[in-house]
Amino acid sequence: MPSLSRLSNLFRNIGLWPRLAFTIALGFLIFFTIFSLLSIRMVNDSTNRILEEQQVLTQMAADEIDALLAQGFYELEKATTFARFDPQADNLEEEYHMLAHAYGRIGTFSLGAYFYDAMGRILLAEPYYAPLIDADHSTKLHIRQVIESGQRSVSTPFVDPMTGAPAVALTIPIRDEQGQLMSMLSGLIDLSSSNIRRPIEQALKLGHTGHAELVDSQGRVLVTTLSLSFLGPGDHHHWYQKMMAQRITGTETVLDEHEGENESMHVMAFAPLSIADWGVAMGGDATETFAPVTTLRNSIFLLGGLMLIVILTATLIGARRLVRPVNVLTKSAHEIAEGNLTAPIQISEGGEIGLLGRSLEEMRLRLKESIAEIRGWNVELEKRVKERTKELEEVMEEVTKLEAVRQMDRLKSEFISSISHELRTPLGFITGYVTTLLRSDMFHSEETRQEFLKIIKEESEKLQELVENLLDTSRIQAGSFAVEKQPTDIGELAQKVVEKVQSITDQHSFLLRFDSKLRSVPGDSRRLEQVFHNLLDNAIKYSHKNSQITISGKTKNDHIQVSVVDEGQGIPQAELTKIFNAFYRASSPDAQKVRGAGLGLTICRAIVEAHGGSIWAESVPDKGSAFYFTLPLQENA
Ligand code: ADP
Repeated sequence: MPSLSRLSNLFRNIGLWPRLAFTIALGFLIFFTIFSLLSIRMVNDSTNRILEEQQVLTQMAADEIDALLAQGFYELEKATTFARFDPQADNLEEEYHMLAHAYGRIGTFSLGAYFYDAMGRILLAEPYYAPLIDADHSTKLHIRQVIESGQRSVSTPFVDPMTGAPAVALTIPIRDEQGQLMSMLSGLIDLSSSNIRRPIEQALKLGHTGHAELVDSQGRVLVTTLSLSFLGPGDHHHWYQKMMAQRITGTETVLDEHEGENESMHVMAFAPLSIADWGVAMGGDATETFAPVTTLRNSIFLLGGLMLIVILTATLIGARRLVRPVNVLTKSAHEIAEGNLTAPIQISEGGEIGLLGRSLEEMRLRLKESIAEIRGWNVELEKRVKERTKELEEVMEEVTKLEAVRQMDRLKSEFISSISHELRTPLGFITGYVTTLLRSDMFHSEETRQEFLKIIKEESEKLQELVENLLDTSRIQAGSFAVEKQPTDIGELAQKVVEKVQSITDQHSFLLRFDSKLRSVPGDSRRLEQVFHNLLDNAIKYSHKNSQITISGKTKNDHIQVSVVDEGQGIPQAELTKIFNAFYRASSPDAQKVRGAGLGLTICRAIVEAHGGSIWAESVPDKGSAFYFTLPLQENA
């Protein structure tokens, strides 16, 4: 049931008030449905009861008329016990008395009583009416029925010609000792008499529209409480015919056939008679008949509806009042969650909600206190952190100082070991060759002596250069390194250095490419010569034999740019800037094989920068290196 669970999820996610309202409304709806069903049941029971009552009344009227007819027959039968009613008798005195008795004393046959012979001829008539005596009634249906069947009969209702009253004749056969039809006795009942009308008029008690009819087998009116003519069609003519045809008892809501355009429905009960082929119909207007039921139904629904509205409203208001403090609590809890602890939680409720409100308020106060406490701790903590940081900074300063001292010591020892090595090599050569020359036990040719002295000179010069470099470095570090500038032709200077170098080595070829229009720059020619010397010396030292070294110069905006490019081993990218630091030597094994103190480029940079220029290197390992430096064309550029 995924949709059911989705519904229950949805229900769980809506607010408390709509949820409560929905539940209450649902509860009341169920209650109202049950109430309505019970009410409908009650109304139906009442309707059935009304119909049953109507049916009982009708049946009672039918029974009463039946009883009257039975009484009539009984009277006739009883008369035969007091007189023989033999048409052959000499004297009909007794019979006449009996007729008079039947007519006069009992009153059932208020329209007359007749004594017939077996052929249907009137022998005696009471009241006496001369034309009737000897009248032949054998053609009359009810007389013929008795003659033919030998059974008693109820005639078709007719208008009594003597009185003009609606009448019906009851006839009984009278038999002789052999059982043969001897004569007949007939009595006329006045259908308009109160005896007959009374049971029918019971219907008037049913209400304003209450009415009843005694109808014959064709639905024609015999007795009615309405103003309809005798033997005319009844108020519900067709329905009477239907009920008579089936001879059934029943109650139905039928159309009033005499109302014309104002069609109204009548609730009618029908009961057929057992002695005559007649029936009694009784009822009234449907609206009036069911008026109590309608009133009951309306009252129930009105009362039910009102009750529902009142109870529902009261419950909803109650529920809303119940939910309001919960909402206040929810809002307060939300505010607390947001960090707003200033607003106090005010709940005037008692019970669980009041308890919850008080607990929440207590929680808010405690939280406020805790937060204030934590804030205090925070301030304290910050203070402590600051103090600790300061202490740490002091310690760090100490450590940095110590580290600097240690670094200095390390550099010093590195410097000493590097310089010692660089000093020891030329000194070793010099000492060795001088010692050899001074040995008296050995003979040296003039040529050998010259060669040894040349080596001693070269090594002395190297030693001198090293010492000068060291002095320059010390000046640089002391900040007292200075240059004396004179207009200097850089092209010429480069040419001069190349020539000097070429005189020492013939293993490399040199290419000079100086712009012919290159202007002279303000410069210290001795120091700039030193720059060229150092760069060319490096180019020779760190490149292969027979490779080319190109020295170029050109003007660029307000300065000239000089480059020394070789085809040597190159310098790793990471070391391109480090090589300008004092005592730094490239780490590659090839570079380590070459003698040097790592001071040449440091001095170059100091000289170039003292002229207001800059120096840098570019390189492609195993392809070669290029050293560039710039010199401003103007003194203050
Ligand atoms: P060094 O006396 O060691 O040559 P420098 O200051 O002149 O000292 O050079 C520093 C380092 O730069 C050298 O040890 C070398 O490794 C590297 N170097 C300088 N010039 C070149 C070059 N032309 N080719 C390759 N490496 C060079």
